[in-house]
Amino acid sequence: MKLFKTPSLIRWLVPRRTWGFSSINTIYLTFDDGPTEELTQSILAILKEKEVKATFFCVGANAKRYPELMSKIIQEGHCVGNHTMRHEHAGKTSKKAYLASIDEARNYIDSNLFRPPYGRLPISYMRSIKKNYEIIMWSWLSYDFDVDVTAACILEKAKNQIKPGHILVLHDNLKVKEKLEFFLPKLIDDLKKRGLDFDVISA
Ligand SMILES: [Zn+2]
Repeated sequence: MKLFKTPSLIRWLVPRRTWGFSSINTIYLTFDDGPTEELTQSILAILKEKEVKATFFCVGANAKRYPELMSKIIQEGHCVGNHTMRHEHAGKTSKKAYLASIDEARNYIDSNLFRPPYGRLPISYMRSIKKNYEIIMWSWLSYDFDVDVTAACILEKAKNQIKPGHILVLHDNLKVKEKLEFFLPKLIDDLKKRGLDFDVISA
């Protein structure tokens, strides 16, 4: 079963991380795993055309490779967050190595927001990370990376499930390029029609 929407039980069981905000009309778009040569520019172009700001949880290795894209993201009024140096899985990486990866990524990503890759974060890791970062999870996962989930399905689920204050997760990588370029403008339009607006996450 695909859990587009994070169940309230999980939010309750895993406190001290941000799963969403209380807001009457704001949505928080986030893009994980970039920046990328293939997709970041077109995401930025769509956001500019729609006059929407978003938050990019970047992988340090990508930020190091594409400093000009990092600058462009910031210049255009968006925010960035740390998503480790090499997209490490916390369940498969020692705590020491994981924390070192976040520190290394910070050389290229100036932010005190952190989102764990794969949404995995043992409690002991979390305690250490919380000292320096706000841990940002999500309320709604688009499943844009899943080949079985079509753009039409994403738009349909969005209509029924996205609520004010939600943090949405989309991806900035080659695998989702065509799908995302198609559904992102429509998703933004649909949400605007509902009277919702958009903001960055800033710590
Ligand atoms: Zn990721």
